[in-house]
Amino acid sequence: MGETAVIRDAEALIALWVPRLGLEAWDISVKESETPSPDDADRPFATRAEVLCDPTYEEARITVFPAFAEISEAQREAVIVHELAHCLMEAQFDLTTALLDGKHVTADEATRTNEYWTERVAKVLIRAWGHDRI
Ligand SMILES: [Zn+2]
Repeated sequence: MGETAVIRDAEALIALWVPRLGLEAWDISVKESETPSPDDADRPFATRAEVLCDPTYEEARITVFPAFAEISEAQREAVIVHELAHCLMEAQFDLTTALLDGKHVTADEATRTNEYWTERVAKVLIRAWGHDRI
């Protein structure tokens, strides 16, 4: 599998932002789709990227679509940070969708998940702007 300039660009942005977001333990990969996202038929804009996240096993698979290569470097960075930020939000989303699917989620589970990931986000913020770096 040949590595394209688009993949190299995305990987460089991921390498820059993974430590900033505290995702060093995650296995994060990126692949390029040669065709637009099938979801674009229902949207007024072209999807630039998407991510599948598994917070339990700390894995993420980012897919960049053709529209990713057509935007500016600053926009590509914003897209990659958005996809990586999903890793921090995914556990909460999983709880919500589990409830919507009629699965049992206890209040303790919801609280633990919320506290764990809120603390992860707080550490990112402290790392960026705290007076005493953690
Ligand atoms: Zn998103």
